[in-house]
Amino acid sequence: MRLVFFGPPGGGKGTQAQRVSKDAKAAHIATGDLLREAKAKGTPAGKKAAEYMDRGALVPDEVVNAVLRERLSQPDAKDGYLLDGYPRTVAQAASLEKLLAEMKVPPEKYVFISVPEKLIEERILLRRSCKKCGRVYNLKYNPPPKPDRCECGGELFQRPDDSAEKLRTRLDAYKRDTLPVIERLEKEGKLSVIEAGASGLDEVEALVRGALGLPLASKKK
Ligand code: AMP
Repeated sequence: MRLVFFGPPGGGKGTQAQRVSKDAKAAHIATGDLLREAKAKGTPAGKKAAEYMDRGALVPDEVVNAVLRERLSQPDAKDGYLLDGYPRTVAQAASLEKLLAEMKVPPEKYVFISVPEKLIEERILLRRSCKKCGRVYNLKYNPPPKPDRCECGGELFQRPDDSAEKLRTRLDAYKRDTLPVIERLEKEGKLSVIEAGASGLDEVEALVRGALGLPLASKKK
């Protein structure tokens, strides 16, 4: 499938994307992950991105667009993709539309995982990621086996932009730049909206699967 997921920072879109991408036969492409990888490798794009990511601001379109274009051209994305964290601005949405039309792979579905703002802070501050495999936990809602260890044995860490202060900047950017993209898709009747506020991960996953026409997950994750 060719899918685009939207949602506020810390709203769980990445977690749900990880849960459904295999069954949706879609390569999970998260621009945040691509940029963190580029930053860790110290590539020119990564160095540029770091200046913005470290303060919770959006990375300039030309940097993200180049990284995304590269990733979308890889073989595993040919049959399907699940974009997570892109597009985040009206200009990115226009570039994406053009790029995917050129590649003849337009999105089939847009999914918005909606979470009330008051729940976001707690989710972000309790989020931990694995240094080794990249798996993401929440200390309260989706706890790891030990507070500092992943199931794979890797060490867990808190993303530097997951602080209360940087969350403010990220939420401002989300409201100012990304919500208009989401609102336009909704107006055009193209968006599946998942109300994820009070629900647990399995319930949200069931709603996402329903929206995508996928069978329910057979086993607990
Ligand atoms: P995320 O992992 O999606 O929360 O993204 C982490 C950070 O990467 C964001 O706060 C931005 O600095 C940057 N980023 C990720 N995706 C984009 C995008 N589509 N446009 C601009 N910046 C992005």
